Amino acid sequence: MKITDIRATTVTVPLEAPLRHSNGAHWGRFVRTIVEVDTDEGLTGLGEMGGGGESAELAFAGLKRYLIGHDPFQLEELRYKICNPTASLYNNRTQLHAAIEFACLDLMGKKLGVPVYKLLGGKVRDRVPFASYLFFRLPNEKGEGEIRTVEQLIAHTRALKAEHGFTTHKLKGGVFHPDYELECYRALAEAFPEDRLRYDPNAALSVEQSIRFGQAIEGLNNDYFEDPTWGLNGMRRVRSMVRIPTATNTVVVNFEQLAANVLDPAIDVILLDTTFWGGIRPCIKAAGVCETFQTGIAVHSSGELGIQLSTMLHLGAVVPNLALAADAHYHQLTDDIIEGGKMTYEGGSIRVPEGPGLGVTLNRDKLAEYAELYKKLGGYPYDRDPSRPEWFPLVPNDRWADHR
Ligand SMILES: [Mg+2]
Repeated sequence: MKITDIRATTVTVPLEAPLRHSNGAHWGRFVRTIVEVDTDEGLTGLGEMGGGGESAELAFAGLKRYLIGHDPFQLEELRYKICNPTASLYNNRTQLHAAIEFACLDLMGKKLGVPVYKLLGGKVRDRVPFASYLFFRLPNEKGEGEIRTVEQLIAHTRALKAEHGFTTHKLKGGVFHPDYELECYRALAEAFPEDRLRYDPNAALSVEQSIRFGQAIEGLNNDYFEDPTWGLNGMRRVRSMVRIPTATNTVVVNFEQLAANVLDPAIDVILLDTTFWGGIRPCIKAAGVCETFQTGIAVHSSGELGIQLSTMLHLGAVVPNLALAADAHYHQLTDDIIEGGKMTYEGGSIRVPEGPGLGVTLNRDKLAEYAELYKKLGGYPYDRDPSRPEWFPLVPNDRWADHR
């Protein structure tokens, strides 16, 4: 089988409401690039990448000269063709590689008539458990969906738990003053005493604030304390003072950083992201290193539609040492671009797809609809807040949003 063409389409799919984070917000929608890799056997493989627009589409078009004629089964050669580590000093194609790797695995599975997990060692679980992903939210265009007060946060969590069955809750913070977010987190612990919790302020806190916050929540049902502060050294200082496992999706996102963390630990739980790490297979390799050193793992979400979600499900299916719920923004979306509509949660988990390849099929009408919506709306600045046009944060931050 040989690759004959690569096509990239930017789409934007609405969220229930704008999601706030320490750097700004997702302005009421996600922008994603859907990648289709065609072959001489008539099979097409699917990939997905975060962000989009002309530059992303051109970046994929630029890979054609590397990949026309490439056999999708040659995954290690693919890695060296696209992101050889020394050539990568001059370009950064890790995320592009991830999308192509997804498509190649999809093609391999379709050609052989097996789900991707069978190509990756076989599944050790049928379903992948997920955490609710709780955001402070701005009201949407209808004036609905705001999450700002403790009461709104608890009501929202209760509704998500009732609908999807979550028993782990992740609070995305770094928006309001840490004292107020501490109040919110404690309220979650009180309202859901049986459930697990995790807090992630996207590295917005100082080391000292992180220690103060961490010590204040030590007695709660914490999975981990995710990126309270910036940097491996900052996280190591927090870890020395707080008796909660630390976690990151920011400062251990490649093998060099993983080695540094093994030699001088700062992070207890590595959050594997199939895009940030360059594909599903690098995540499995990293999970193997973590298994050896007994470092924890979980699955990070950088915002996903059904194709990317499927990569997270196949990853979650095959790594034995996944002892913690995965993260997904997915339930915040109003729609998806795959056949059958959005995948469903049952008891807080999603079934691993059983169809050939990634097990998802593009819905062409939805793809066209959301590509059109992207053309109409364009992108949005992830690192700006629509409710505070002049604002930008410091690291550590002291320019908190007002919760009153
Ligand atoms: Mg995070």
